[in-house]
Amino acid sequence: MTFSYQRRYRGPVKLVILDWAGTTMDYGCFAPAVVFVEVYKRKGVEITVEEAREPMGVHKLVHIRKISQIPSVARRWQKVHGRSCTEEDVQKMFEEFVPLQLDCLAQYAELVPGTLEVVAELRERGIQIGSTTGYTGEMMSLLLAEARARGYEPDSTVCATDVPAGRPEPWMCLENARNLGVYPMEACVKIGDTLPDIEEGLNAGMWTIGLAKSGNELGLNEAEIAVLPADELRVRLGRAYKRMAETGAHFVVDTVADVLPAIDQIHQQLAAGERP
Ligand SMILES: [Mg+2]
Repeated sequence: MTFSYQRRYRGPVKLVILDWAGTTMDYGCFAPAVVFVEVYKRKGVEITVEEAREPMGVHKLVHIRKISQIPSVARRWQKVHGRSCTEEDVQKMFEEFVPLQLDCLAQYAELVPGTLEVVAELRERGIQIGSTTGYTGEMMSLLLAEARARGYEPDSTVCATDVPAGRPEPWMCLENARNLGVYPMEACVKIGDTLPDIEEGLNAGMWTIGLAKSGNELGLNEAEIAVLPADELRVRLGRAYKRMAETGAHFVVDTVADVLPAIDQIHQQLAAGERP
């Protein structure tokens, strides 16, 4: 008889990698959305906040390019400029985007409630904290200072500009693991508020937890959520849960404050020899 044997990691979760905007700070993920609308406006093209939010999570240059490819935006661009949006237009808009984003980032630097408590509890369990973002290194150093002033400092931060390609490619996650000396990847969990966040974690071979309420999927801050009719909130939240689950998220919860039960569950699944 012939047998094959499989090696299984049955140890604990060692690393949790958190996204930034819409995950640990900037409830509703507003800072990039308002600036994308502004850079297109400066080119004479009105875009909706929904269009601005659609590609959220990727490198901001790629994001501007992806907005230009949305059919409704492409039509409006054509009408205003008499031609389609070129790569040169995209590069120029990114050049304008950077200072505008840097100017307003600090206004959206409040931590999402629960971030400090959850990070403290994870560290208590011996889990290291990594982070990835679609922001550039320059934007991130500003945000890191704002986060530090509020008591939050991950053990490792990797930006889209530090690696060959940002989300949905896995390199930022893998770079965090390398920075912190963590392996195997099934001992790692990626947490974020966008679909590219989930894909990034899955592509890195990690467990993933989607956040449906605090980020880009709902696109509302706490005050706006508080006045939203309960029925509408249920429908919109339901849609966010479904989109994240369909992208492959192992777990979907409301906000970072709700991730600990999912981490416990991942511990149990690892102990049983399961893989992401
Ligand atoms: Mg985010």
